[in-house]
Amino acid sequence: MSLLTMENARLMLERVYGYEEFRPGQDRIIDSILQKKDTFAIMPTGAGKSLCYQIPALLFAQESSGLTLVISPLISLMKDQVDAMRSLGIRAACINSALRPKTVAETIDKAGQGEYDILYIAPERLESDSFLPLIQHLTQEKKFPVSFVAIDEAHCVSQWGHDFRRSYRRIGPFIERVLGGQPSGRPVVAAFTATATEEVKVDIVKLLSLQDPNIYLTGFDRPNLEFTVVRGGNKKDFLLDYLAFKREEAGIIYAATRREVEKIHDFLAEKGYEVGKYHAGLKDAERQENQELFIYDKIKIMVATNAFGMGIDKSNVRFVIHYNLPKNMESYYQEAGRAGRDGDPGDCILLFSPQDIILQKYLIEQSVRSPKRKAHEYAKLQTMVDYAHTGKCLRGFILEYFGERETPTKCGNCGNCNNCSEVTDITVEAQKIFSCIVRMREQYGSTIIADVLKGSRNKKLLRMGLDRLTTYGALSELTQAEIKDLLNQLVAEEYLRFTNGKYPVVKLLPKAVRVLKNEERVLLKVYTNPRVSSDDSLFEVLRDVRRELAEQEKVPPYIIFSDSTLREMARFHPVDSLSLRKIKGVGEVKLERYGTAFINAIKAYLEAGLQVKRERTE
Ligand code: ADP
Ligand code: MG
Ligand code: ZN
Repeated sequence: MSLLTMENARLMLERVYGYEEFRPGQDRIIDSILQKKDTFAIMPTGAGKSLCYQIPALLFAQESSGLTLVISPLISLMKDQVDAMRSLGIRAACINSALRPKTVAETIDKAGQGEYDILYIAPERLESDSFLPLIQHLTQEKKFPVSFVAIDEAHCVSQWGHDFRRSYRRIGPFIERVLGGQPSGRPVVAAFTATATEEVKVDIVKLLSLQDPNIYLTGFDRPNLEFTVVRGGNKKDFLLDYLAFKREEAGIIYAATRREVEKIHDFLAEKGYEVGKYHAGLKDAERQENQELFIYDKIKIMVATNAFGMGIDKSNVRFVIHYNLPKNMESYYQEAGRAGRDGDPGDCILLFSPQDIILQKYLIEQSVRSPKRKAHEYAKLQTMVDYAHTGKCLRGFILEYFGERETPTKCGNCGNCNNCSEVTDITVEAQKIFSCIVRMREQYGSTIIADVLKGSRNKKLLRMGLDRLTTYGALSELTQAEIKDLLNQLVAEEYLRFTNGKYPVVKLLPKAVRVLKNEERVLLKVYTNPRVSSDDSLFEVLRDVRRELAEQEKVPPYIIFSDSTLREMARFHPVDSLSLRKIKGVGEVKLERYGTAFINAIKAYLEAGLQVKRERTE
């Protein structure tokens, strides 16, 4: 009887990982792989892709001593995942360029003797001198065939993706040429990614030579994340207000440039925060060290450019703040998605100011040559600007962008749905803006429109005679920046649109015409204040226990248990093995390794509590 059944997959989930049920999509994906079908899974960050290949890998190993290769682009990610798996009792190892040649040789040797079920490799290794003989040895002897190849971050194969890696192009030929010839036949191949637009999808199937794959696009929603956009106001003040409530929590602050990273970092360090930084201008060693400090909970806050993160599987990141506007929705959702991977609440906050648009445009001009690509990038940037200005449900906006069929109009968990925003009627201002655009014959960009409305003495404007328009100075009580902000909001709300390109011109949409005819009013939502988080003293105690264990074992704390597991412990107070085993995230191996430490801590905590109560009643 075959071991490759969903029943066994569920058993694994429960026994090894200590999870009760599959998350949406995981079961279908695993089922497809177990049926030996090539599989292509698109799931958002934090949805749980790793399990989707690890569980089949374990079952393939049991079934036929088959080895699973996991191809993954980042070395830090690899080490992390292998550590995590070993802590679960899984026989895993990795091969990459960060390891000493001696270690690589040992790993290869052990793999040759069938000591591993899962081997992580960097794509660069696929054609290396030491790796190919190993594979040939394994497969020719027929002892340990490669039964399954999983490709993580599969979008790296496509030039249209946001992290193109040349070495990913070797994967397809490797599977066909090297593995296709093994006596047991071509392995099952599965590709995983969080983001794939239509072009990228096509590339993945073609370039990784997936054969008639089952494609799964699981929900992009991350219900535990709260999305918020903060416009206007001083960003530094916002950070201080916000961080004051988050002293104990881990979070990432993304900024657009190295200089900005340095500035924010120094500012927070000065205010007494434990803060690290990460950008491409730092030496490798320093970057590596800062990253480790963050992963190991030694520093709480990481200020970074987008160079930081693809390798970060840290599950207890509680907030991701974007200090500047990212270049597109794909990057934003992936970066923001690094919050709350453990399923506990996470905040994703975008701080918007109009200068950020100028910077992103400059970056596009600097980095993109082809006119077609350029237009593509500008259009994507515009979506990001729209997101920053929409008054609709932010989750709805995101999910709609990613092509989700059913999207909420009110999710109840974003800045626009929650009561932290106020509605204001801006019909009069909007009418002034629209009629100004009409008088300017829809021929101008937002800066000059704002100048006219402001009544600026700008020379260019005067030279063109724009000061003779009746709308000249119609909004003189606002600043030029405020007028532009309004204009952007009206674009996001689809009253206006920008034409594409380097110098976008503002055009009216039908909705604006209705407003001009007084048939419709314009209502806008404005964000007001951030929320406060609560804390729990038992949770803090358990976190200390975890930190100690992590230090002893030299692994990051979340490898021991995730925040959500600790939080459940703090809620249900398990004081024996049986009840601890019922907590989400506690499997057999972890129970044996760490159970006693946590049970003792919970017991001590409860007893201390009783003590206090007794003293009070006495
Ligand atoms: P991805 O690679 O899709 O970004 P990961 O594989 O790193 O996500 O998983 C994110 C987190 O979700 C991990 O902490 C993982 O242990 C947890 N997780 C995965 N599947 C489940 C499940 N079925 N139940 C509970 N937690 C899960
Ligand atoms: Mg992953
Ligand atoms: Zn919402």
